[in-house]
Amino acid sequence: MHSQTKIIQATKAHDLIAKPVSMPLYLSTTFHRNADGSYTDDYIYTRHDNPNRRLLEQALAELEGGTSAFAFASGMAAIHSIFASLSAGDHVILPDDVYFNINKLMARVFTRWGLEYTTVDMTDMEAIRSAIKDNTKLIWIETPSNPMLKITDIRAVSQLGKEHGILIGVDNTWSTPIHQRPLDLGADIVMHSTTKYFGGHSDVLGGCVIVKDDDALSDRLLDVQQLAGGVPSPFDSWLVTRGLQTLPVRVKTQSETAFALAQYLEQHPKVARVYYPGLKSHPQYEVAQSQMIIGYGAMLSVEIVGDGLRAIDIANGLELFATATSLGGVESLVEHRRSVEGPDSHTPENLLRVSVGLEHIDDLMADWNRVL
Ligand SMILES: *Cc1c(COP(=O)(O)O)cnc(C)c1O
Repeated sequence: MHSQTKIIQATKAHDLIAKPVSMPLYLSTTFHRNADGSYTDDYIYTRHDNPNRRLLEQALAELEGGTSAFAFASGMAAIHSIFASLSAGDHVILPDDVYFNINKLMARVFTRWGLEYTTVDMTDMEAIRSAIKDNTKLIWIETPSNPMLKITDIRAVSQLGKEHGILIGVDNTWSTPIHQRPLDLGADIVMHSTTKYFGGHSDVLGGCVIVKDDDALSDRLLDVQQLAGGVPSPFDSWLVTRGLQTLPVRVKTQSETAFALAQYLEQHPKVARVYYPGLKSHPQYEVAQSQMIIGYGAMLSVEIVGDGLRAIDIANGLELFATATSLGGVESLVEHRRSVEGPDSHTPENLLRVSVGLEHIDDLMADWNRVL
């Protein structure tokens, strides 16, 4: 089955009472215990499990080709569960341009709990290889990266991980499984901020972790999920499940529009540079070709001719792009990334990060043309 069909199948209601076609919302925090002490379908208490969360998790596992999935209240709670499933003294390799809050979580929280980490350029296999230590337990990949859209070779890093017995985790938020399937490429763990394309409408926060054929890791993640309790509410789960149903069509259309916008902006005289993995000018174009499918995602970064103030002016002048952080919604967004990242940022000052929504390409191009 194609993913479009699979996702509709996987999000169908399971409710034996009224047999509804779409999934009802189960707000109950607690569930009846049967006379013999058992629980129907193992539902005991909503932090432990809930029908809306279980449906979402089954759909997520199906979509990424995993064997188990764990939903969380945010993408950060999801990455937290992965770090928390490691042990004091373990070493983690992070991309030098990892999502900046993941870096902060590691630096400010997990180092106090005994994790060690090194950051490396994830496009440089030699750099990754030489960062490996005896206690390295996890290599973290984020591809395309934020905001420079650097591409990491998931197959090659997964191979390296296998040789050294190191888990490979991929933040697949930007690509979604429509464009990239890390578990098929050899990775062990996939993580998403479901706040982005999965929810798809900028109205729900969420995260998830998906693993394949690793019962020990699954058990540790389940412990963190059920005991630490950073779980999504039933309504959050319901909203993300609803978002998943239209994920394939939204993402395909948004990515096509982003590709066309990237091509248009690349040849514009007022634009210095465009970062988009589908462009031949992209430094890792070949790697993107070899591991991304159907398209290259709906995120791009644009360096404007001029300084940071000119870039901020352009962002403010665009009418169809809201000046806001985040991504993956139906509405286009633009952001001066350096201002968001603060004083430690290495992002060029003339760079704008763009999340392309579901508007028509002609209107988006006209907006840029006018403001440039
Ligand atoms: C947004 C984002 C996160 C964090 O997710 P939240 O849902 O905001 O907690 C992590 N990784 C990437 C790539 C993101 O875009």
